[in-house]
Amino acid sequence: MVEQHAASVCPGEVETVDLLAGLGRVLAEGILADRDFPPFARATRDGYAVRAADLALIPARLEAVGEVKAGDWPEPGVCSVGRGQAVGIMTGAPLPAGADAVVMVEHTSPIRESAVKLVEVRRSVGVGENFVPHGAEARAGQLLLDRGRRLDHAGIAIAESVGKSRVEVFRKPRVAVLSTGDEVVEIDATPGPAQIRNSNSYSLAAQVQNAGGEAVRLAIAPDEPRRLRALIEEGLGCDLLLLTGGVSMGKYDLVEQVLGELKAEFYFTGAEIQPGRPVVFGSCGDGSSTRSGQVGDPPPHKKYFFGLPGNPVSTMVTFELFARPMIEALAGMTPQPLIFLRARLKSEIRTKTGLKRFLPAVLSGEFENAEVELARWQGSGDIAALARANCYVVIPPDRERIEAGEWVSLLMRCG
Ligand code: AMP
Ligand code: MG
Repeated sequence: MVEQHAASVCPGEVETVDLLAGLGRVLAEGILADRDFPPFARATRDGYAVRAADLALIPARLEAVGEVKAGDWPEPGVCSVGRGQAVGIMTGAPLPAGADAVVMVEHTSPIRESAVKLVEVRRSVGVGENFVPHGAEARAGQLLLDRGRRLDHAGIAIAESVGKSRVEVFRKPRVAVLSTGDEVVEIDATPGPAQIRNSNSYSLAAQVQNAGGEAVRLAIAPDEPRRLRALIEEGLGCDLLLLTGGVSMGKYDLVEQVLGELKAEFYFTGAEIQPGRPVVFGSCGDGSSTRSGQVGDPPPHKKYFFGLPGNPVSTMVTFELFARPMIEALAGMTPQPLIFLRARLKSEIRTKTGLKRFLPAVLSGEFENAEVELARWQGSGDIAALARANCYVVIPPDRERIEAGEWVSLLMRCG
């Protein structure tokens, strides 16, 4: 459902940034190979460049006629490998003409006593062993990174290796974050006896940033329709609005009512998940465009919003499941599936059926021995439990009991 709408949004304008500043940004241009990769047949081992046929019978003695280290260029005729010859070669150096393999230094010994330099080779090699042929990784002009790709450290390395010191990226979408609730106070206020600090605006801002957006934290909206409406209108000036709290069935849960007054269209009001069941998704505006505007502008264009439940863990989970794909689309990213890992359950889980559950859990163990167990928690308001957890175990709605040792899916907590 969200993905369908996400497919209809357009990313913002393009800007050019220094390569490292492009980390986490979405490419607005494709990155092409500026030459063949590797640009020469590149040794992948330290050893000797040889002709494989000379090592049909081993041990073999070859004449050591030169050496190429990384950065050297073996001029054909000056440094090449003839029959019965070998050239010392280092990892990253170009293969000299005439050679068709590299034998690792571990399988060789120089022979000191002779007048000519000789090397004894104790292992044979196949043609093509221990070097990467010229152009085998990519050809000049080949697309290495597509537009819509989010730059990570590997993408940075690729862009660097083709000489792109600056890259074109899409402007980050501005995502308004609006927390609601009479009991919620700002970080620098001392909470009264029945008040709590506004953790959701901060966790959401962090998640927005992590998803490739720029968070615009608005003032806290009280559970009072006029002020709430004014803040919602302010938030609709951004590219996307995230609300938290006020979407449940309580008498003072006013978010849907106020959005209704703003002629919002609701695509869903609730999901069969726990935590996060009351989540809502919709849009305001006429649909003529999906972008533009500053904070404070009225919403002349179609603007999407999510009403996320106020319990901190519900807010975090529903963000990952629903809001992240929309932010990624607004950021210009090619749609990415959510990443679920699998691990073996350490101890049995019992739950009620009916809802798909996302329970905070601790993933431990290494490589093929990944194990997971539920974190102790008091429900979706228990923020302290999140310090003990690093992922969520996903429990299908039809499972009442999952045995220890079963494989379960995990939603990873990213960023
Ligand atoms: P609500 O969805 O408004 O019914 O709120 C559900 C629970 O989440 C209540 O216990 C709220 O106090 C809590 N909550 C709501 N907003 C926030 C917030 N911004 N930060 C932390 N907790 C909140
Ligand atoms: Mg509330």
